[in-house]
Amino acid sequence: MPTPPYTGRFAPTPSGPLHLGSVCTCLGAFLRARSQGGRFLLRIEDVDRGRCRPGFTDAIRRDLDALGFTFDGEPIVQSRRDGAYEAAIARLAKGGWAFHCACTRAQLTRRPCPCRGRGLSAGAVRLSLPPLAPAQDLLHGAIEPPAHPAPLLLKTRDGLYAYHLACVVDDLESGVTEVVRGADLLGQSPLQDGLRALLGGTPPAYLHLPLLLGAHGKLSKQNRAPAALSLGTPQEILLRCLALLGQDTSGLSGAMAPRDLLRAATSRLSLGAIPRHGVPCPTSQWTPPPGP
Ligand code: GLU
Repeated sequence: MPTPPYTGRFAPTPSGPLHLGSVCTCLGAFLRARSQGGRFLLRIEDVDRGRCRPGFTDAIRRDLDALGFTFDGEPIVQSRRDGAYEAAIARLAKGGWAFHCACTRAQLTRRPCPCRGRGLSAGAVRLSLPPLAPAQDLLHGAIEPPAHPAPLLLKTRDGLYAYHLACVVDDLESGVTEVVRGADLLGQSPLQDGLRALLGGTPPAYLHLPLLLGAHGKLSKQNRAPAALSLGTPQEILLRCLALLGQDTSGLSGAMAPRDLLRAATSRLSLGAIPRHGVPCPTSQWTPPPGP
């Protein structure tokens, strides 16, 4: 069989602005895809309608554009793909892998889920995973699966499709061959490979990028990291993120257009230089507001 063309993606959740950590992830994924002569897709992961806002999607797309990132084809918007997720659940249920479950999250921390085979017709939908193999990461090597994985949530009792389902269905349908994302999702990869196998797919390659660590922990939307572009010009942010990813920025300058910076960085991408562990990120211009 011919090798499928390299296809990568950036898959932000629009529950906040594009912060420095997300720019690093997009940058790593973009450089990797373009250095392989591959396709690079944008996917808006807005299945959690409670947390996501269309205003953030618009702002993220504007910022990605200002930073010079280009994507192939139209963005995939998960909130418009209920049909594909429901079809996948139907297929998994037919195979006896997906089932309705009445357990609460608290119950599942205390005892195994007894719902598979009970023929329930309401509640959350969960997946019993097949035997799992280690996932393969270009930086981290083999990622071992958990010994006794709990059933994976596919759909909440409120009818929201869960991250794993939407992510795997979309990666498969878009022909994603390599998943480049933040290291917070490293341990999820063997589980996603298991789900992908049940849907007839083979595992992608993985490249989990280091998280940025501020004085208050991982930079994330939850702790209200500010929009990257509130901290500097697109060029300054790209140069800063290249440095955080361990890339050689010599000869690159803030006077270059963002796309030229990206082109130059693509031609000198060094995977070996990417730090494997969290990268301290000076956050003098960022102190998260107090309170939740
Ligand atoms: N949507 C996730 C995020 O914004 C990324 C998921 C993925 O790349 O698989 O962190």
